Amino acid sequence: MKIKCPVCGKETEWENNLWKPFCSKICKILDLWNWFNEAYSIKVEEVEEIINLKEELNDKTNSMWRSRKNGQ
Ligand SMILES: [Zn+2]
Repeated sequence: MKIKCPVCGKETEWENNLWKPFCSKICKILDLWNWFNEAYSIKVEEVEEIINLKEELNDKTNSMWRSRKNGQ
């Protein structure tokens, strides 16, 4: 079965879709974001940037934690 993503309008499969009713993780996050902001002004690229930033931060936190455990 095919559904239309409510965020970007792209056709996506319903079955085996982790992010249903959305087409992807990005659209799911975007929808949440929109829900908080009550505005549909943020772009997908911006959300991707935020996700990358978060992952970068996580990496830094993890390596900080590791060096602390090593007593450095
Ligand atoms: Zn979508």
